This record gives sequence, C-alpha cells and structure tokens, in this order.
Amino acid sequence: MAKVRGDIKVDIEQCKGCELCVVACPQDALTLSKEINKQGYHYALLVEDVCTGCTNCALVCPDAVITVYREDKKSGKKIPVAEVRNVTGDIRITVGADEEAEG
Ligand code: SF4
Ligand code: SF4
Repeated sequence: MAKVRGDIKVDIEQCKGCELCVVACPQDALTLSKEINKQGYHYALLVEDVCTGCTNCALVCPDAVITVYREDKKSGKKIPVAEVRNVTGDIRITVGADEEAEG
C-alpha cells in the first residue's frame, strides 16, 4: 500500500524551538533552522519530503503552531488534518480528514 503523503506548515514566528516536534517525528523529517525568528529562536523546519501526515508533531507542539496536511488521492489537494488552537484557553484538536457523521 502506498504511503500517505503529508505536509506541514509551521508558524515560524511563533515557534519557540523546543524541538519536541523534531523528536516526535517518526520519519525524521524535521529539524531546527540555522536562522532565528523574530523572537530569537531556531524554528522547526520540514527538511525531508517523507512526511506521512501522522500528526505527531502538531499534537506535541506546546505552542500549537503546526498544521498537518494530507494529500487527497482523488483531487491531489492538501487537506488539513491536525490543527491545535488556543492552548491557553479552550483546546480544540481535530484529527482526520473531513468525515461526515454516519447514521
Ligand atoms: S506529520 Fe508526522 S511525519 Fe509529518 S512532520 Fe509531523 S511528525 Fe513527521
Ligand atoms: S514543537 Fe512547536 S514550538 Fe517546539 S520546535 Fe516544534 S514547532 Fe517549534
């Protein structure tokens, strides 16, 4: 079975360079940048095109700055599957592509 193709987007200006996502990635697809962001932190970067969209990085990021996408096989479009928001208030975790309720 072909692997799922994934991708991530990091809000680099909000990243604190804690490296948790780098450690959590089973594909070793992440590293910290040589450059620093406006806050003075080395930020997370996707360096290998091997992301499977597993969502680990987004779920461990304490600053909730990673959005994970998976490629829809039919359309080829990237669909967001993991987005964590408002960690200082309500936590909203979405895992999985748009799934309609059954029943
Ligand atoms: S979604 Fe999974 S495979 Fe892709 S960068 Fe994040 S941890 Fe790695
Ligand atoms: S876990 Fe979040 S804050 Fe930490 S390095 Fe990764 S993207 Fe940055």
